[in-house]
Amino acid sequence: MLSFADLPALTRGILLQSPAAPVAPVQHLLLDSRRVGQPAGTVFFALRGAQHNGHRYLTDLYQRGVRLFVVDREAEIPGGVAAFPQAGFVRVEDSLLALQAIAAQHRRQFRIPVFGITGSNGKTIVKEWLAQLLSPDELICKSPRSYNSQVGVPLSVWELNPTHTLGIFEAGISERGEMERLARVIQPTLGIFTNLGTAHDAGFTSAAEKVGEKMRLFEKVDTLFYCRDHEAVHTAAQQLTDPRRFTWSRNHHYDTNVAVTVAEASADRTVVRVSVAHPVLQEHMLTLPFADEPSLENALHGVAVLLWRQVPAAEIQRRLDRLQPVAMRLEMKQAVNDCYVLDDTYNNDLAGLTLALDVLARQPRRGRRTLILSDVLESGLPSAELYTRVNAQLTVHGVERLIGIGPEISQHQALFGAAEATFFDSTEAFLASFRPDDFRHETILVKGARRYGFERIVAAFQQKIHGTMLEVDLDALVHNLNFYRARLQAGTKLMVMVKAFAYGSGSYEVANLLQFHRADYLAVAYADEGVDLRQHGISLPIMVMNPSPGSFQKLRQYHLEPEIYSFERLQDYLGIAREYPMPAIHLKLDTGMRRLGFAEEDVPALCNVLRENAAYVRVASALTHLAGADEEQHNDFSLQQLAAFQRMTPQVESALGYRIVKHALNSAGILRFPEAHFDMVRLGIGLYGVEASGQQQNALRPVSSLQTTISQIKTLAPGQTVGYGRRGTAADYDRRIATLAIGYADGYDRRFGNGVGEVMIRGQRAPLVGNVCMDMCMVDVTHIPLAQAGDTAIIFGAALPLTELARRIGTIPYELLTNVSERVKRVFFAE
Ligand SMILES: *Cc1c(COP(=O)(O)O)cnc(C)c1O
Repeated sequence: MLSFADLPALTRGILLQSPAAPVAPVQHLLLDSRRVGQPAGTVFFALRGAQHNGHRYLTDLYQRGVRLFVVDREAEIPGGVAAFPQAGFVRVEDSLLALQAIAAQHRRQFRIPVFGITGSNGKTIVKEWLAQLLSPDELICKSPRSYNSQVGVPLSVWELNPTHTLGIFEAGISERGEMERLARVIQPTLGIFTNLGTAHDAGFTSAAEKVGEKMRLFEKVDTLFYCRDHEAVHTAAQQLTDPRRFTWSRNHHYDTNVAVTVAEASADRTVVRVSVAHPVLQEHMLTLPFADEPSLENALHGVAVLLWRQVPAAEIQRRLDRLQPVAMRLEMKQAVNDCYVLDDTYNNDLAGLTLALDVLARQPRRGRRTLILSDVLESGLPSAELYTRVNAQLTVHGVERLIGIGPEISQHQALFGAAEATFFDSTEAFLASFRPDDFRHETILVKGARRYGFERIVAAFQQKIHGTMLEVDLDALVHNLNFYRARLQAGTKLMVMVKAFAYGSGSYEVANLLQFHRADYLAVAYADEGVDLRQHGISLPIMVMNPSPGSFQKLRQYHLEPEIYSFERLQDYLGIAREYPMPAIHLKLDTGMRRLGFAEEDVPALCNVLRENAAYVRVASALTHLAGADEEQHNDFSLQQLAAFQRMTPQVESALGYRIVKHALNSAGILRFPEAHFDMVRLGIGLYGVEASGQQQNALRPVSSLQTTISQIKTLAPGQTVGYGRRGTAADYDRRIATLAIGYADGYDRRFGNGVGEVMIRGQRAPLVGNVCMDMCMVDVTHIPLAQAGDTAIIFGAALPLTELARRIGTIPYELLTNVSERVKRVFFAE
């Protein structure tokens, strides 16, 4: 056990102040100020990133009971250590390095085998499958999900405890120098190099440099496992001084430890023949429960480890049969009675539970927070202690209702102090008494070990919801947010446009995420959109771009800040502001868009009105909007607009006598006019994954994917036509036509009909046939023989980019995104 007094020596830091009272041993390492669990025994590390500075949260954390802090700038402790009389402070050179040093020290206390896993793809799946394959023999500590970064690795390793017999940790890097630091934390004794792809090439000058850097994880391992067919990996592995290599190969039958030949492949499984040279030549047939190449490769790494450990072939087969797909993400699904279900039915260990509860706690409040939880497995703790800890987690994360399922959790029901708790011995018992009406407006985390089959519970919650959905990838959204953020100067604020239902993505879910990630401002088009956000607990400042004259009372009531673009609107506002205090306003200046706003010649008169009414109106900002920010050909015009803006705003400021926030740029402008970010920028379409200037599309991740299902497939004889107006042209061969459960009432544009549009089914494109109908449309799947009713059809998404589809029907991605009708359910997910 580590104590706070050990930290200065371990981190080469300086003790600025000892805690006033003796404190508990260090138990929790905290990096994110929003995730305080039990403050006792928690050490907060004030990390800094491009847009983030942990020192800013010290006061808040202190008020919440945290007493131990590691900082790297004494000057940034608000009020100095004297303002924190009870707390202990250590100042270090670099808080991240200190965190890693502490995790490395923790790791040193365990003399158990530890796998380090790296490579370009498959790290998480290889880790999870290896853990599944070894779980009958070992008590395993592994990284939760894909915690493989400079901060994720130390947090993962910190979870090691004396009951573990094996560690499995993954390491991911994007630049030189990073792996050495991760290796010092993981201290692997065994290694797996999954493969080498092109991911993250940006941080390296060559492929050789990349593989060399990754290989540094294995400099001290006893044995390194890899696939001999990746030549670059093999070459680099030979440079390592010490380690023994244990390789498998499909191409090399001699120069490898395990030779693999595919004997038989069908749609859902692959039979392989493996020859092992060690300790005596043996040959086995093994059946792997998949057919795709990536899964095969990921599983074969695990098979190689089992063969190396000399697990008998029959036992390997038994374990392969039980291999479960890895759910890489936590899905948020719309369910009965306005409930949402967070689906995490894949595993249930303590670390995974904590992560899932974090996600639950971050969801917007729409009613109670409910947890359906199975027995927690493989904790290595005595069960009374385990469920005491689980109960503490529930309290910390604000769970108001618990449904425990399984003999063990039921046996310990007395340990749960949650407001409302019910228990069932089995999933069947729960389902037998399940009544959808017992759940209303709740956010329900369904978290169960695989063997409990909780997917049946999720299905029960979703039974009445139909097939078409818009999947929204919240991680991609955050990625895009950070991409734009990284392009801003330190003090520049970020306003995010969530108008039009957040460009179709679901307004308050997106707004809630933006609030969590500390956007500075939100903007909507109409007052009602703002009211809706407030009613869902959004407290960020909100600008309303087009407030109607009748909406000003509402603005006051919900503290929404109007954009004022004309003298009429200003009078509407003042009419109320002279009687009641009103939220601040945003002045829209028209510099060339000629849509809304005060023209340059209006500014003197505007200044007079503002001066005369200074007692009633406060101006928060002035903005303008560029007419051609995304196109090179309009650069001169854009620069003229910006120049006009810079002539107008000083006049307003001098009339007001105070500084106001100035902003001009939308997503395309942020990238194209870095010199004109001013005090704030307005991010819109870029957040949703479309790079409007078309220059850096690859840097963004697509956020939403519209999907539906095949309702029916028909075979049409030569000469038959499809749909209304007999438009689906006849052919001279048999055609298979799939009817999809989406039409123009869902927002699928009629212009896609008759071969203009394509959808994606089983990884292949299928062209539209005939007209798009109100609730359905038809596609030709003659060339996709496996297509069947119930299959998913992707309308747009990563493989069918919005920009391409928009071009096909002569519109812009904005229209496709915002057209998706509100009757299409939104499903949100994050890793
Ligand atoms: C919608 C909007 C934006 C965002 O534009 P994008 O092109 O989506 O980034 C910015 N400013 C104003 C005034 C807007 O109406």
